[in-house]
Amino acid sequence: MNSKLTVLGCRGSMPVSDKNFLKYGGATSSFLLQAGGENILFDAGTGILKSTTLLEDVAESHLLISHMHMDHIMGLAFWRPLFTKGKQVHIYGEKRNGLMIKEQIADFLKAPYWPVGIELFQGVADYHDITAGESFSIGDVTVKTMRSNHPNEGTLYRVEWDGKAVVYALDFEHSEEASEKLAAFAKDADVLIYDSTYSPETYLQKKGWGHSTWVEGLKLKEAAGVKTLLLAHHEIDNNDEMLDSLQAKLTALDKDVYLAKEGMGIAL
Ligand SMILES: [Zn+2]
Ligand SMILES: [Zn+2]
Repeated sequence: MNSKLTVLGCRGSMPVSDKNFLKYGGATSSFLLQAGGENILFDAGTGILKSTTLLEDVAESHLLISHMHMDHIMGLAFWRPLFTKGKQVHIYGEKRNGLMIKEQIADFLKAPYWPVGIELFQGVADYHDITAGESFSIGDVTVKTMRSNHPNEGTLYRVEWDGKAVVYALDFEHSEEASEKLAAFAKDADVLIYDSTYSPETYLQKKGWGHSTWVEGLKLKEAAGVKTLLLAHHEIDNNDEMLDSLQAKLTALDKDVYLAKEGMGIAL
């Protein structure tokens, strides 16, 4: 069966909407991986709303949440499969602040912040509490996890099937130690989705904020022997023109490096 990774949303921190952001898109983090006969989503930023038609005929899907920062979960409030009887969405996430993943989502979607809560989630099959560093299975697919270097306990995912692997490493800040661990975790992956929120210059003012740069992404690609590097979590100031010129620079350095674009698909 053919496998495919689709970019649903790749904007970092906050959604943006403007004529200067039409090409790369303004929706926040969400990616759909259709592999090993499973439908696996990384994060539920506003981009996840675009999966509704792709998953129209799919009953069971699996949503891997990296962490609870708003840009990664905002889409939960309006993602139709969650509210649809007959759908079977499995939600995975770590325990944080003593709260199970179900309790964290319930806390996010409640009055007075939002009018409907998880009691209306007729399409959820189960909530799965996971632990960073451990692995679990979804059918024939194996999911490995790693603690991210990011405020409030992020989780990075490595999904493996049929000898292939995709690594999701958004909301990750490089450091000698963290990058070494991630290089081992991403070893020989087909695709590494990497946090390139900042340029090396803007990063200098944002050290400790939990994000990385495209230069660090290139270093990791090399160190891990990754085939394709997909850079995402674009900063909200980076409009299409800026990202186009960055893409040209990246292609000149390495033809297998892409800035994620909403709607883009990678066959695996
Ligand atoms: Zn984020
Ligand atoms: Zn974050």
